[in-house]
Amino acid sequence: MQNMKTELSCEFFPPQTAEGVDKLRAVRAKLAVLKPGFFSVTYGAGGSTRDRTLEVVLDIQREGHAAAPHLSCIGSTRDSIRALLGEFKAAGIRRIVALRGDLPSGMADVGELRYANELVEFIRKETGDHFHIEVAAYPEWHPQARSPREDLLNFKRKVDAGADSAITQYFYNADAYEHFVGEARALGVTIPIIPGIMPIGSFSKLARFSDSCGAEIPRWMRRKFESYGDDADSIRAFGLDVVTGLCQRLLERGAPGLHFYTLNQSVLTLEIARRLKLI
Ligand SMILES: Cc1cc2nc3c(=O)[nH]c(=O)nc-3n(C[C@H](O)[C@H](O)[C@H](O)COP(=O)(O)OP(=O)(O)OC[C@H]3O[C@@H](n4cnc5c(N)ncnc54)[C@H](O)[C@@H]3O)c2cc1C
Repeated sequence: MQNMKTELSCEFFPPQTAEGVDKLRAVRAKLAVLKPGFFSVTYGAGGSTRDRTLEVVLDIQREGHAAAPHLSCIGSTRDSIRALLGEFKAAGIRRIVALRGDLPSGMADVGELRYANELVEFIRKETGDHFHIEVAAYPEWHPQARSPREDLLNFKRKVDAGADSAITQYFYNADAYEHFVGEARALGVTIPIIPGIMPIGSFSKLARFSDSCGAEIPRWMRRKFESYGDDADSIRAFGLDVVTGLCQRLLERGAPGLHFYTLNQSVLTLEIARRLKLI
């Protein structure tokens, strides 16, 4: 049933300890069975994870996988971004996830590039077509957007500035994704828009995070998760059913791939891929 060309990718955050780096290596070795198009590594706004992101990215390249560092511009100068782009280029990196990021609390200086479209433009100006540039998309709209229409137009700005493809914020409502893609297509946006998939391991953590990033957990799901209390097995089983069903529907309706927010774990992502017969 699934499209043979479904492009899979997996996202990690840079661990804080050497032990975490080793564990992540083992996780990647397991996820390699998915033959992912790339492994991406998040980047703390203001450059807070600059070296750790680079370290993991270089590790991934050494293992023979394509690595895509995230790069957020808020709180940074053009010079610092130029230097980092040079390091990525020298390391043979060909793909970047270009973001604005969120200003860490206590940091007042927004930096020289205020929005992701300015970063995309800067990367293109500095490095031409060297990098495949991914940008973020928000099927349920970015939490700070003044209106859905403005958010959509701001998404298009990133595409017009030179983005090659987009990865969405996670969502559990396939209609939101389909609506967003339809609206983007109506504006003339033709780049692939890959759904970001968040497997559900812990409901309480997911609920906290979703409130801050503006992703909705539909009421029917929330109520059911809440009814399980501390029953981790039931939460995991229901989460797997829901997320697999979501992926199935997205792929059947033409989504060009899936980007997994792995949270540096392999088990749930692999189980979903196995159920989708993607392994
Ligand atoms: C796939 C993915 C990966 C992510 N990885 C990271 C990461 O590694 N590190 C990290 O810190 N965060 C990451 N984030 C979170 C992201 O940084 C935040 O959601 C951030 O608030 C917005 O970043 P953006 O690139 O989408 O911003 P933008 O596209 O710049 O949009 C931000 C807001 O500003 C508005 N806007 C955009 N352009 C303009 C403009 N020109 N004029 C006026 N308003 C405008 C938009 O409508 C939106 O409300 C990621 C998000 C996603 C979906």
